[in-house]
Amino acid sequence: MPADPDCLFCKIVAGELPATIVDSDDRTVAFMDINPATRGHALVVPREHAADLLAISEDDLGACARAAQRLARRAKDRLGADGINLLNSSGVAAWQTVFHFHIHVVPRYDGDPLELPWTPAPGDEAEIAAAAQELTA
Ligand code: 5GP
Ligand code: ZN
Repeated sequence: MPADPDCLFCKIVAGELPATIVDSDDRTVAFMDINPATRGHALVVPREHAADLLAISEDDLGACARAAQRLARRAKDRLGADGINLLNSSGVAAWQTVFHFHIHVVPRYDGDPLELPWTPAPGDEAEIAAAAQELTA
């Protein structure tokens, strides 16, 4: 059962909605963003529901940061990323659209055209799956 029955990411954590999971531990799950800003864009979420940066526990925040670092290392080593942006949006004014805390791990490539905020657009499923395979431990 998802902790919050109306929360999209709780449903992904509970396995009730499909997602391409690339990392998990006892406190966190990481999966590919369906609208990737760049190749390898993933989201790290706490298993326990918390709406945003102000609501998440310190322990879960630490666990999410460590998971983001794991993915950043893999993005560099395996996807050939030249840099990484970590992004958290907390609150509508800060562009948050899904109200379950998440850290965007956005691999950056020299000269890539990404600008913030990016306009979400569905990624190519095969391409997301290929990047996910490389990112998975
Ligand atoms: P926010 O706008 O709250 O910072 O980020 C929410 C992110 O969740 C967006 O980048 C969006 O593409 C992603 N997202 C929305 N719905 C889904 C979904 O059903 N599955 C996955 N994997 N990502 C989603
Ligand atoms: Zn949730």
